[in-house]
Amino acid sequence: MKFTVLRSSGHARRGIVETDHGTFDTPAFMPVGTQGTVKALTPHDLENLGAEIVLSNTYHLYLRPGTEVLCKAGGLHHFMKWSRPILTDSGGYQVFSLSELRKIEEDGVRFRSHLDGSMHLFTPERVVEIQRAIGSDIMMVLDECTPYPADEEYASRSNDLTLRWALRCREQFDRTRPEYGHAQNIFGIVQGSVYPGIRERSARALVSIGFDGYAIGGLAVGEPAEEMYEIVALCNELLPERAPRYLMGVGTPENLLEAIDRGVDMFDCVMPTRNGRNAMLFTRTGRLNITNAQYKFDLLPLDPVCECYACRNFSRAYLRHLFVSKEILGLQLASIHNLYFYQWLMREARSAIMEGSYQDWKQHQLSYLVQEVSQT
Ligand SMILES: [Zn+2]
Repeated sequence: MKFTVLRSSGHARRGIVETDHGTFDTPAFMPVGTQGTVKALTPHDLENLGAEIVLSNTYHLYLRPGTEVLCKAGGLHHFMKWSRPILTDSGGYQVFSLSELRKIEEDGVRFRSHLDGSMHLFTPERVVEIQRAIGSDIMMVLDECTPYPADEEYASRSNDLTLRWALRCREQFDRTRPEYGHAQNIFGIVQGSVYPGIRERSARALVSIGFDGYAIGGLAVGEPAEEMYEIVALCNELLPERAPRYLMGVGTPENLLEAIDRGVDMFDCVMPTRNGRNAMLFTRTGRLNITNAQYKFDLLPLDPVCECYACRNFSRAYLRHLFVSKEILGLQLASIHNLYFYQWLMREARSAIMEGSYQDWKQHQLSYLVQEVSQT
């Protein structure tokens, strides 16, 4: 993997990541395809709306369909018919958020499947092997996503374990080889809750182990946004210039713009797709709920200036009708539009960085991004 920073504007960076499945531009937003599918969309839809990399999830793919199926299919790219880059998260977060029973041990985390109650053990080594079977271009280390709030002592002990696991992941990565002929890469994850001292220790230790990129984890878990931005800025000061930085699971359009301003290169979040399936649309003049009665006779496009497939072809009244009638096409069109909006936002951010005017552009966007669309 090769990462090149083309231009900076303040701390904001415009770059390109090259993988064996092609390049993606940064700042990048990765649509979330937890189960090997971005819900309601085909790979064709994803390419058309401008996605260059998608995220999938180790925990879910390990439990279902399982690594034997993925190996037989020649890896996740072939299985889901997506020929561009894939990043997989390690499953640590899902073990802690989904499984009914989990026990953290030095060796790894023991958990009960949320699907059938069966018991499993994720060790750092096992998680690397599963991601070898998936064949993701970028894999993540096993970590404990420290819950919020956590006291400093817990956060410190949790981070120490995450660092020992990160080293074991790195060693297992170096001992094993890709299964399908394309190169794989591995990112470390900075933890440490909202404590600057622990975050600093985490970032320095990961950099000394050495990874292809670095993620900032354990944020957007309930802490105030300002606290998140301070931690992001601190981590990015400590992480190397030459490697991509990935803020996990974040977030709203405003969060993305603020994090880019503090040097983040990559994002993922379920928000555009999940909110879309709940009838909430992001537009360039704010957010709207398409099921509102005011749209019943509204024959304008969802967002008149948007060039996505949904906005070029369908009216607000039609999309409202689809949602009210519980037609599945509504979920697809809303997902297409919201993901296109996120990709548009990243394209515009990249242009603003190239022009050296990111901060002015950001202020302009923030002045209306958070508004509810007025009752017109
Ligand atoms: Zn649109």
